[in-house]
Amino acid sequence: MSRAAVRDAAALPAAAYDPACRRCARLVRHLDEVRAEHPTYFCRPVPPFGDARAKLLIVGLAPGKHGANATGRPFTGDYAGILLYATLFKFGFASRPESTSADDGLRLENARISNAVKCLPPGNKPLPAEVSNCNAFLAAELGTLPEGAALLALGRVAHDAILRALGEPARGHVFAHGAEHVLARGVRLFDSYHCSRYNTNTRRLTTPMFERVFESIARHLRSERSGRAA
Ligand code: SF4
Repeated sequence: MSRAAVRDAAALPAAAYDPACRRCARLVRHLDEVRAEHPTYFCRPVPPFGDARAKLLIVGLAPGKHGANATGRPFTGDYAGILLYATLFKFGFASRPESTSADDGLRLENARISNAVKCLPPGNKPLPAEVSNCNAFLAAELGTLPEGAALLALGRVAHDAILRALGEPARGHVFAHGAEHVLARGVRLFDSYHCSRYNTNTRRLTTPMFERVFESIARHLRSERSGRAA
């Protein structure tokens, strides 16, 4: 892992990330198998990446086998990161439009990326118990968010994990692409379909659809800033 990633993860509370966590026996076994197959892969819980004081936190599902699980940085090294990092760059949250490896020098500005589940699940499908096990890490990370922060849930699992971690009721906050949910402390949750290869190839999620979600996020953060300055 790059020094920048170590510094960013280290700036979060210790309860937000445990590099030695082995709470999910099935995932630990799976990581051992993938490590044997690909000895150079990261194959551990993947830490959050980005600005520790960010006002935008993006929450994905879990590391991809040949992406985050290989490189040690969320959405880095496989298809799922292409649209995400290009959009972060377009909206001024990333220093470059591509994320190729954990030591490529990319920096996030006022944004951070995390996952609902920090270890690679078989078939990209974590079990409910694994999402539940990992929720304490997400809760600790969400506890660092300032008032008026923006959360972007990439998919329904991330949406549900965020609500649970915040102790917000699921009722009244139904996942839908493009939906916005007003939460406690002025925090706003934005929903998007996950930017996976499947969703972008089938055009369930297009670039304009994804950018419209980021326009809403940027509008929210601008209005928060001007509200505080007033
Ligand atoms: S998914 Fe989360 S709770 Fe489960 S072993 Fe990995 S870091 Fe620990």
